[in-house]
Amino acid sequence: MKKLLIAVDIEGVAGVWRPEQTRAGNPEYERARSWMTAEASAAVRGAFAAGVDEVLVNDSHGSFCNLLADQLDPRAMLIQGKPRMLGMMAGVDQGVDAVCLIGWHCRSKAFGTLAHTGNSFAFSRVWLNQIEVGELGLYARLAGHFGVPVLAASGDAQLAEELAMVLPDAAAIVVKWAESAHSGRSMSPQHSQALIEEGVTKALLERRQAPLLMPGPLTVRLQCQTPAQADWFALLPGTQRLAADELSFEAAGIAEVVRTLNCFSAMSSVLR
Ligand SMILES: [Zn+2]
Repeated sequence: MKKLLIAVDIEGVAGVWRPEQTRAGNPEYERARSWMTAEASAAVRGAFAAGVDEVLVNDSHGSFCNLLADQLDPRAMLIQGKPRMLGMMAGVDQGVDAVCLIGWHCRSKAFGTLAHTGNSFAFSRVWLNQIEVGELGLYARLAGHFGVPVLAASGDAQLAEELAMVLPDAAAIVVKWAESAHSGRSMSPQHSQALIEEGVTKALLERRQAPLLMPGPLTVRLQCQTPAQADWFALLPGTQRLAADELSFEAAGIAEVVRTLNCFSAMSSVLR
């Protein structure tokens, strides 16, 4: 394998439980982003140990500017900032052979640490052709659209259950066990980093999971957190209002779905 993409979120990082750990502007976030960076570096080490020539790391939480560039393994190239066409899969179109997900979390309305889909302020539930999806289901299909498999994902045990449904042959790297949305039991960051390094190497050598394909056209149903959100999203031509808090739209393929959802997410900030 020549080139790997590592997409890094924060909610599934060991030791992260509380919303304030995921939001800029407080000391808890500063600590959490350093753990996030250390887990990303562990995955980079694991990739090079498996013989990969090149590693791209994309920062895939919130502002997409959380990873501490000077603390990341310097052999990786770092993708940061917003907006970007491919969202949490930025870099997947740059000739990569596989993707690993680090620090990911469950879909909205599922059990699991800080579970949400895309934007916890805007979106409640998302269905693609009647299959309910979270970020994992959306972005694994976007990688599949580029012919790229997701080989491993780290996060809590509940994410591992979601992974088994979406990508049954991908490797789950479990670093914590949620008891509620904001509580549970976690490995130490040192332990999670060792497990991620080893798990990424193994997953890249075994290479079991095939790309996840979902050809278009796709019908998307979106339940919003509030009717006020749906009022804004319904302004976009092509949307159909299904209920006060629900709408649907058609898309040619998964890339268009991700772009439209990310437009809604940006639009939702007017209500904050
Ligand atoms: Zn996140």
